[in-house]
Amino acid sequence: MSVPDISPDRRRFLKDAARMAGGCMLAGGGLAWLARDARALPAQALRPPGALAEAAFLSACIRCGLCVRECPYDTLVLAELGSDGPATGTPYFIARDVPCEMCEDIPCVAACPTGALDPALDDIDDARMGTAVLVDQENCLNFQGLRCDVCYRVCPVIDEAITLDVSHNTRSGHHAMFIPTVHADHCTGCGMCEKSCVLPEAAIKVLPLRMARATPAEHYRKGWEEKDAKGGPVVEGIIDLPDRLPGPGTDNLATPGGFEPAFKLPGTGQ
Ligand code: SF4
Ligand code: SF4
Ligand code: SF4
Repeated sequence: MSVPDISPDRRRFLKDAARMAGGCMLAGGGLAWLARDARALPAQALRPPGALAEAAFLSACIRCGLCVRECPYDTLVLAELGSDGPATGTPYFIARDVPCEMCEDIPCVAACPTGALDPALDDIDDARMGTAVLVDQENCLNFQGLRCDVCYRVCPVIDEAITLDVSHNTRSGHHAMFIPTVHADHCTGCGMCEKSCVLPEAAIKVLPLRMARATPAEHYRKGWEEKDAKGGPVVEGIIDLPDRLPGPGTDNLATPGGFEPAFKLPGTGQ
């Protein structure tokens, strides 16, 4: 069989084209592998104590893993390759797996070389890794009138971050219920309560702040706070009108001589 005569220019062109096609195939394969491997951080992933706000944290963390190495309880793990793109290699923990033991000397923060874990955090009680939320009242044993109390008892900030609030048990009619109630201002997000919940799936969960907390309604003026701050009435000269009492000329329908509505609801006598 005769070999076709190909000019040197055409041979070079064919070689370059073949190289480019190979490169494209490699790049495409790599992208496909990354896409197949892409996974999100778990929704309940919590950042270590002192972590900056998420965007600032992602910029500051150099993925060195020193905080993970220094954690004596193996609480922290590094996000695997492909986890949420820029979050790959960053530290987090899942409360139900291994909660934060709230070390007094906060070795994870001390190990961070960049300030992604804020060195200003010197009291672990001031950490805000997340907020505990009692997400399932139907299954929480205390909501059924039993005395489980486990989440309350394990809390390192007991009686501040979580309290048991007494409420009437309407089911039995004559017992009390002791409702686990989280106070976000004091909850460190350590996860001890979620880890210890006795149910197969915890009724109390620690969620990242962005999921657990709403933003306050800045446009509402809370009169009682302004009054406290001012130490007196916010508006001077308010006329204190007498409270409306039942009697002739009022809209108390039960009072003889009271207001007579033009329209009466059928069958109500009113
Ligand atoms: S405070 Fe202690 S247990 Fe919690 S993440 Fe840091 S090193 Fe680990
Ligand atoms: S996460 Fe749970 S155990 Fe930890 S401080 Fe908050 S309420 Fe207490
Ligand atoms: S440990 Fe679980 S079931 Fe028990 S009171 Fe707390 S949230 Fe409810």
